[in-house]
Amino acid sequence: MKYIDEFRDRTIVKGLMAEIGALAKLKTNLMEVCGTHTMAIFRSGIKQLLPAKINLISGPGCPVCVTAQADIDRMLTLAKLPGVIITTFGDMLKVPGTQSSLEKERAAGCDIRVVYSPLDALEIARQERSREVIFLAVGFETTAPAIASVTSDARAGRIKNFSVYCCHKLIPPAMAALLEAKEIRIHGFICPGHVSTIIGTRPYALIAEEFRIPCVVSGFEPTDILESIRMLLQQIRQKRADAEIQYRRAVRPEGNLSAQQALSDVFMPSDADWRGLGVIPKSGLKLREQYQAHDAEIKFDIKVEESFEAKQCLCGQVLRGVKNPSQCRLFATVCTPEQPYGPCMVSTEGTCAAWYKYHR
Ligand code: SF4
Repeated sequence: MKYIDEFRDRTIVKGLMAEIGALAKLKTNLMEVCGTHTMAIFRSGIKQLLPAKINLISGPGCPVCVTAQADIDRMLTLAKLPGVIITTFGDMLKVPGTQSSLEKERAAGCDIRVVYSPLDALEIARQERSREVIFLAVGFETTAPAIASVTSDARAGRIKNFSVYCCHKLIPPAMAALLEAKEIRIHGFICPGHVSTIIGTRPYALIAEEFRIPCVVSGFEPTDILESIRMLLQQIRQKRADAEIQYRRAVRPEGNLSAQQALSDVFMPSDADWRGLGVIPKSGLKLREQYQAHDAEIKFDIKVEESFEAKQCLCGQVLRGVKNPSQCRLFATVCTPEQPYGPCMVSTEGTCAAWYKYHR
């Protein structure tokens, strides 16, 4: 297949593996902070292919997984409000809240609709003027510009029955929080390709400089990931800590300036609650004052009685890279993709789902 086969070429893979083998002298922990990378690594068998000294750790790269339990419970409260239509991406449906899930509430009669774009949610609001339409905005810097654009359209078009429950999160503050916590030793970051198309490399350069940790923005094909690993090992060997781009066909150092402008027009940084990591300062986005009429958190009275994570689920530790899914007693027994116990098994980008599908 043109433009794909080149990135899965056996000869190129063998060459990269030889270079990695030559550089892999010390035990090295490399963390990917992108759910798409997690899936790509497992799907292509890279984890097993690498020398034993190179340990790939999955971090908090799945947006559904890092959404705090309290936010899931607030979404469920919103869904039960009379006259409300909840719109969301499909991954959110099965995520278990403290008492229920969006899927269960839909079965119980709540109007919860899966959309493929926030534009679809706005269209529903246009067509159902007598109903309140709430979009559950979960995602990183990649999806946030589209939400910003749609919220801006809603304001300009005076579509007052459209609002956003905003759980957007920013990746670089989470990377810094992991390093500050020092729970595990991370020698280098495989940085997310999609997020970096928006933010560029400057936020990673700050992390690389402050923590002396090499960062490489990677593409998603096997040779992309292997080349990124080689680049990280080269930096470690040369005692450098820079923010480099492997995924040059999509990412520029400055990122996407139009998308960054759209983000800062509509959103401002805010403290955000992450599953497993707790509240991280300025690691989320909230709507600016002029968009508050479209902020579901302000528009609706969202009260949640009690919110807690399932006791035996280790998602929090899995997201911090401290434990892997096979160390969870529920993995592949009680907790499966059909009957997920925690969000890391629900999402198509979740670490537990990746282990279940490719690494059992
Ligand atoms: S296997 Fe299931 S219960 Fe265990 S950490 Fe993963 S999602 Fe949570």
